Amino acid sequence: MYDAIVVGARCAGSPLSMLLARMGYKVLLVDRATFPSDSISTHFVWPTGVDCLNRWGLLDRLRATGCPPVHRIGIDLGAFQLEGAPPPINSVAEMYGPRRIVLDKMLLDAAAEAGAEVEEAFTVTGLTSTDGRITGIRGHERGGAETEIRAKIVVGADGRHSLVAATVGAGEYNVRPVMTCCYYSYWKNLPPHVSTMRPRPGRLMVTTPTHDGLHIVITLYPAAEFDAVKSDIDCHFMDTIDLVPELSNIVRSGERVERYYGTGDIPNFFRKPYGDGWALAGDAGYHKDPCTAQGISDAFRAAEWLADAIHAGFSGARPLNEALAEYHRIRDEHAMPVYEMTMGLATLDPPPPEMQALYAALIHNPAETDRLVGTFAGTVPIPEFFSPENVGRIMSKGAAAAG
Ligand SMILES: Cc1cc2nc3c(=O)[nH]c(=O)nc-3n(C[C@H](O)[C@H](O)[C@H](O)COP(=O)(O)OP(=O)(O)OC[C@H]3O[C@@H](n4cnc5c(N)ncnc54)[C@H](O)[C@@H]3O)c2cc1C
Repeated sequence: MYDAIVVGARCAGSPLSMLLARMGYKVLLVDRATFPSDSISTHFVWPTGVDCLNRWGLLDRLRATGCPPVHRIGIDLGAFQLEGAPPPINSVAEMYGPRRIVLDKMLLDAAAEAGAEVEEAFTVTGLTSTDGRITGIRGHERGGAETEIRAKIVVGADGRHSLVAATVGAGEYNVRPVMTCCYYSYWKNLPPHVSTMRPRPGRLMVTTPTHDGLHIVITLYPAAEFDAVKSDIDCHFMDTIDLVPELSNIVRSGERVERYYGTGDIPNFFRKPYGDGWALAGDAGYHKDPCTAQGISDAFRAAEWLADAIHAGFSGARPLNEALAEYHRIRDEHAMPVYEMTMGLATLDPPPPEMQALYAALIHNPAETDRLVGTFAGTVPIPEFFSPENVGRIMSKGAAAAG
């Protein structure tokens, strides 16, 4: 009998297991994958996520893997570029783009070191229940016989196609259609350049450094173009890169060293993340387009909020479901503004005229440009930055600077 069984051992499940084990709970962490292993995901981690790693004592480990920090972010709007550094959170302002094969293994090892029992190559096939309350999992090791394992709570950290969510019938809300598809690969020998988001009508391009001296180069397209892009990825990818001469020069001066990776499986939804004997963390409970690169940082924070809620329930500080309802509230409160911003960007439409005017007014305003980057980074509240008062101040200052 475990206190918690966590299904899925990547960005949400491993930190959650680590935190619960550190609190003294008996945790079983299972994943059908073995580690180290890759995942179809680019890997940008904003300061909110890096701050979690720092507080968990894992940031130095990430640094030791040789992944270079990113300090500034560019936003290339075609007519002009903005560049800024997000305001820090708990003194952390740096960002990283670690390969998932490195990051996920580091997180899994941290969970095991904390005392969580880890079962790799273990596939969960169903949940057990009594009187409507989830009591455990059913599953098997690779090639093994099916077993049942019991726990006080089962957490689905099993990604966007969560078996746990489907089995308990977790209700979905704020569902939006699939908006983009994404392809990326790795280049060596790119000249030094600022990690930059480059939106163009119907496209978004991003580059950022990662391990081994490589850069990841990412392109997003409207979901409707997925079949066309997939039919000749290199042609579509390089045609897209060539839309921006500066980016084309950067990318074409290096050499692609891996195949293209990509997906059109990018749903947008929230799920109710708890019920009797179960909870959801990470993509299992909330999935969104990767155009603003929020998923890893969100998964880290959800792991923390959920660990605190489970501890509050198990320790008797609050009824468990009340604590889980609070986790639900906090998650959505943080997620909703950036979800809406993400949905806007994921249209891949040019920014509306008022946004273009706001961006133009930021050209000579480095402090507010930093804060704009902070809205992506999660260190500046989106409603505060885009409030009429703040936008009014930026526009007045922009007008004064333009003479
Ligand atoms: C193209 C793309 C690019 C992205 N780029 C970024 C980015 O730059 N920055 C960012 O922050 N986020 C990005 N994301 C989002 C990010 O990948 C996810 O938010 C993050 O991986 C969520 O972690 P997770 O632990 O919740 O789920 P996952 O990483 O999906 O892990 C789920 C785990 O559960 C296991 N599992 C599933 N079912 C079972 C089962 N039945 N039994 C046992 N194990 C099971 C799986 O094997 C898997 O290991 C991107 C996503 C995509 C698709």
